[in-house]
Amino acid sequence: MTIPAQLIPVARPWMGEEEATAARRAILSGWVTQGPEVAAFEREFAAAVGAPYACAVSSCTAALHLALVALGVKAGDEVITVSHSFIATANVVRYCGATPVFVDIDADTLNIDPQLIQAAISAKTKAVLCVHQLGMPCDLRALVDLAAAANLPVVEDAACAAGSEIRWDGHWEPIGKPRSDIACFSFHPRKLLSTGDGGMLTTARRELDHQFRLLRQHGMSVPDTVRHASAQVITESYPILGFNYRLTDIQAAIGREQLARLPAMVARRRELADRYGQRLRGLRGVITPREPEWARTNWQSYAVRLQPPLDQGTVMQRMLDHGVATRRGVMNAHREACYPPGSWRMTDAGLAKSEEAGDMTIVLPLYHDLTEQDQDRVVAALELAVR
Ligand SMILES: *Cc1c(COP(=O)(O)O)cnc(C)c1O
Repeated sequence: MTIPAQLIPVARPWMGEEEATAARRAILSGWVTQGPEVAAFEREFAAAVGAPYACAVSSCTAALHLALVALGVKAGDEVITVSHSFIATANVVRYCGATPVFVDIDADTLNIDPQLIQAAISAKTKAVLCVHQLGMPCDLRALVDLAAAANLPVVEDAACAAGSEIRWDGHWEPIGKPRSDIACFSFHPRKLLSTGDGGMLTTARRELDHQFRLLRQHGMSVPDTVRHASAQVITESYPILGFNYRLTDIQAAIGREQLARLPAMVARRRELADRYGQRLRGLRGVITPREPEWARTNWQSYAVRLQPPLDQGTVMQRMLDHGVATRRGVMNAHREACYPPGSWRMTDAGLAKSEEAGDMTIVLPLYHDLTEQDQDRVVAALELAVR
């Protein structure tokens, strides 16, 4: 098989001179971690999503972990979530010593099926951790109402969903505006907005934001910024067991530039996703993704579902042979060796849809400077691969 000269990658971060200049500014400022750039990034992120509080951390995994710790999730507890997600979603439950209880997904949105949550609730349930998978908002209305009735807090894994919107009380609003207790974002390069690595927690609950700030810096009572600004000598104390989950000022400076690009990023991805939808319409064996009428995804990933007898690995290899990189859709945590029996639980409804989605979806290339010509090459490669 000849390898084509020009491989079309599956994703590319959108960064340029602005980000490089911002990093330089932070480096030369004399303050390189959790200082003024982090504070400014938090303010700007909070304003962009419409949240009263935003707390920056080193990754979304760190954000999710802190969210559960701040809600008091501990050994012996259960957290209702999905297996069909990046593994970090389930891992953070286990970091707390708790057990993830996996609920199956809705096949169309690849998100948690709210109708299956009730059966997953037990006396040990401490929280519901939902995911806006691949940027597609989950059915938060149903979920929040259900959790409220059961008196359970809700955490949103919004790792992929910066720039996604949900229709709420008749208005389109950004994911991250508080509707649940906490939303957690990722700034890994596979997401839209990237700081290399990084994360953010948004909330409307002041006491939770206070906890996040303590927990992200070793449980230290007085942050460096306060000590630095004080004319008096201040000695800090450590009232709670914390972590080092700081974001650096270099990353935050980059994040501020990325945030300014977010509307353009989302607009471009929607354009390209629409175009995929048109070009792939009617292609046999391939189902294109659709938004529920109350959701607007940022198209962090454009995942198509293959139908039997097509095989995921074969289609991906054929496309790669034609110079087009793809990725399998979303994994399932419960199928990995680090999830042995006893480390998780499921309901009688099982996880058939999660497994089927894991086996049959593939992610197509989508990035800001994907040309229409290259997008047509992707479409042509897929057409050949499923023939
Ligand atoms: C990427 C991702 C994470 C992890 O984010 P990091 O910032 O890499 O820690 C968690 N959950 C989901 C759904 C993700 O896609």
